[in-house]
Amino acid sequence: PNNTVATNDDLDNVKSKAAAKKPTKKVKATFVTLARNEDLYDLLGSIQSVEDRFNHKFNYDWVFLNDVQFSEEFIKETTKSVSGKTKYGVIPYDHWSTPIWINRKQAEEARMDMKKKDIIYGDSVSYRYMCRYESGFFYRHPLMDEYDYYWRVEPSVKFYCDVDYDVFQFMQDNDYEYGFTVALREYIETIPTLWDTTKKFLKEHPKYLAKDNSLEFISDDNGETYNLCHFWSNFEVAKLDFLRGKAYRSYFDALDKSGGFFYERWGDAPVHSIAAALFLNKDKLHFFDDIGYFHGPFTNCPLKEDVRIKGRCSCDPKEDFTFNPASCINQYYKFKGLKKPDELAVYGF
Ligand code: GDP
Ligand code: MN
Repeated sequence: PNNTVATNDDLDNVKSKAAAKKPTKKVKATFVTLARNEDLYDLLGSIQSVEDRFNHKFNYDWVFLNDVQFSEEFIKETTKSVSGKTKYGVIPYDHWSTPIWINRKQAEEARMDMKKKDIIYGDSVSYRYMCRYESGFFYRHPLMDEYDYYWRVEPSVKFYCDVDYDVFQFMQDNDYEYGFTVALREYIETIPTLWDTTKKFLKEHPKYLAKDNSLEFISDDNGETYNLCHFWSNFEVAKLDFLRGKAYRSYFDALDKSGGFFYERWGDAPVHSIAAALFLNKDKLHFFDDIGYFHGPFTNCPLKEDVRIKGRCSCDPKEDFTFNPASCINQYYKFKGLKKPDELAVYGF
């Protein structure tokens, strides 16, 4: 203690004091979850995972949205589990219903037809409301107004590795607008006319196509057809201005008017993904290869040894979907010119 020679501890102290002095303003960001009251306990598992692996250090807020009032139990249980502020919003009727321009008979026939074909959620009205809401409305909820970035979380997901850095700060510092962990192919039966509707929109609004876009990621024939690759939207870390912007807004309105959320079963994942690929320059996209993540039935389990050690990952790398032939991350790496992890030689296909 009375030693005049500075120890490593002292030096560390000086450094951390200097770091503390640097004015760092916390990014305006929130987690966001759309959920039913009955999703509560599956959601608490997701919250625990997010908090233990990331948010206990950063205490970001969490916005919960629902088409009906949240129960007192839901509010009490989630409030005690989130380290940041929690906010609860009800969705306005117009954002969670069948718009007047939809032909109800045609929509019902489409649902019956999809049920016969055994298409997942093919006969569900509420699933369609959910997909339409996540596509076009969640970011317009007044509770989202004060934020610049969001991280979407669903019930029953898991985070497998510690995330020691501030993910939102990282998005902001790198000027990223859309971050993802899993990419795969959509069932064509759910979106037969989505690409044609998109092409029509682009023809009418060519100015929205970003110069340095990612068309190559979503089309193998220069835009003639959609290769069905999309980012899995149950995990998203993104900038709200991307969705609030004119390009996305008018794209969503065109899709919504066409009726495909009801006459087909368009998912919010291909809608967000096509928009991110077309309206953003490719350097705005970020693949989080270090965020171990599970949403049934797929896992992003980091293969890189240094990531696994630093993050204390608890997943089995043999179960990683990232470089499976069915995963679109392969296409993504190719088009971005990224180098796949060396560990693929051990765990790969
Ligand atoms: P999947 O991941 O495509 O199988 O769909 P999920 O059942 O996980 O639903 C996606 C998200 O929307 C989840 O966060 C659900 O909690 C939420 N969700 C789905 N349907 C409804 C609904 O009818 N009402 C509300 N409030 N949330 C819903
Ligand atoms: Mn889900």
